[in-house]
Amino acid sequence: MSAVPSDAAAAASERLRITEIFLSLQGEARSIGWPTVFVRLTGCPLRCQYCDTAYAFHGGQWWAIDDILAEVARHGARHVCVTGGEPLAQKRCLGLLRRLCDAGYEVSLETSGALDIAEVDPRVSRVLDIKTPGSREAHRNLWSNLARLTPHDQVKFVICSREDYDWAKGVLAEHRPHDVCDVLFSPSFAQVDPTALADWIVADRLPVRFQLQLHKILWHDAPGR
Ligand code: SF4
Repeated sequence: MSAVPSDAAAAASERLRITEIFLSLQGEARSIGWPTVFVRLTGCPLRCQYCDTAYAFHGGQWWAIDDILAEVARHGARHVCVTGGEPLAQKRCLGLLRRLCDAGYEVSLETSGALDIAEVDPRVSRVLDIKTPGSREAHRNLWSNLARLTPHDQVKFVICSREDYDWAKGVLAEHRPHDVCDVLFSPSFAQVDPTALADWIVADRLPVRFQLQLHKILWHDAPGR
């Protein structure tokens, strides 16, 4: 038996399940506002109560990584965001990220914080969620990820209530991710008053960046925008 995989087997091993690839503006995090190609991978092992991409839990189409690269190139933007779902739930996501970096894109990865980020290409800016109790998935946080953060990464909390805010403050005090990288606090849409969250942050002089999700304001979170 040959140790070298056939072309067909090699191609099959380079495929990912994709829900959508589209051009929009980055709606959050450090590269907010840049025209960005989004590659949304299918599937997520979590079920956050506020999830706005449940349509990516199932379905999708198999895409060869070469074809994903070609589709990204067709859109002609410098920024690429690999998102989900939970992209790291598909192991081949690591190869896609590497290939996108090799091609010279500014690459970010949106990940739930539940899966190990150790193998992600260091050129990628990892946007790592920390799930609050209000998400109902806080038990999935993989705390060892915090030790892997670099200044190139970002940490994000989606705040659902005052209780979530106080819990997140406790996480900052204990783990101090803001000593390493930017920490973002975002109000859960229609669950907490954004002005109240902004006021809490200012009152506490919290070392975090408040953000509103641009795509929700501009396009009311329509899929593909
Ligand atoms: S991790 Fe993200 S995609 Fe998965 S359920 Fe939570 S919000 Fe939705």
